[in-house]
Amino acid sequence: MSLATWSPCVREGDTFMVYAGPHSLLAVRAKQGLCTQTKYGAIRHSELLGRPFGSRFTCSKGGYVWILHPTPELWTRTLAHRTQILYAPDIAMVITMLDVRPGSVVCEAGTGSGSLSHAFLRAVAPSGHLHTVEFHAKRAAQAREEFQQHGFGNVVTVRFQDVCLNGFGVEGSADAVCLDIPSPWNAVAHARTAMKRAGGRLCSFSPCIEQVQQTCQVLESNGFHEMNTLEVLLRPCDVRTISLQIPDIGCTTKRECVTDQGCTPTGVVDKEKGLFLFNTGCIPREVPGHTGYLTFASLPPARDF
Ligand code: SAH
Repeated sequence: MSLATWSPCVREGDTFMVYAGPHSLLAVRAKQGLCTQTKYGAIRHSELLGRPFGSRFTCSKGGYVWILHPTPELWTRTLAHRTQILYAPDIAMVITMLDVRPGSVVCEAGTGSGSLSHAFLRAVAPSGHLHTVEFHAKRAAQAREEFQQHGFGNVVTVRFQDVCLNGFGVEGSADAVCLDIPSPWNAVAHARTAMKRAGGRLCSFSPCIEQVQQTCQVLESNGFHEMNTLEVLLRPCDVRTISLQIPDIGCTTKRECVTDQGCTPTGVVDKEKGLFLFNTGCIPREVPGHTGYLTFASLPPARDF
């Protein structure tokens, strides 16, 4: 039941994460008799079964890795890309803005590589449901298999169909709908059909602003309100030691700790070198990347409700 529920130890059939460094993460399924190669040597599954998640594992060459419990976030970092996928910053915004919670019924198109689906599944489980639609046969089959392996089999239905032609396969039951397809405007009417008469929330992810414009027009003509489009950009802050040239400020010792009025150390004066050294958060000059625009909208309750 690996991603769906917490378990303390690695069991046969579980997915576990092998952390071998900040840029080396691997998802593996535990199977008696199998061996997984890492840069630190082999992991013999027979030696791993029964070990607690979070523990350090010494590989055959003597180096060690960490065995982590799987989460949708780690899965997103390790899954085999069959398509472009959504990443954690966009996913977090989608889940929040759609107000998805345990018990929610969510419709999604397309399933793609299942990155977003896993976050939806963790959020709606154990009493909600995800209806996810994919018109590429292999992708639909692979996603179905992975959801099953990850313990989400009873909270998900994967439909192999064209959402623009055949909709989501549900009527009047979705709390939220999420579209990540090239022509979301062709699925808006089906989204409306899928949603509860009490109304609900919709999200559409598109890389180009022209797609956003077309989608918004169709959302409006289908009775959606409260439209807003946003772009999630990560602005990391590196904490570094900065040194500034300073004029002689009359320190008596060679190195002196400078404090603020509350006596918190704020930095160090190196008088010999004429430098003031302090730690600060540095914002990179260039912020990487546009992934896409997230358009959100609300469907109000039906009038005769
Ligand atoms: N959000 C997904 C990625 C979706 S990629 C993730 O995070 O992994 C878009 C997917 O939509 C592709 O797999 C594509 O085959 C599918 N798709 C595109 N148009 C579709 C349609 N009309 N009906 C169903 N699936 C569609």
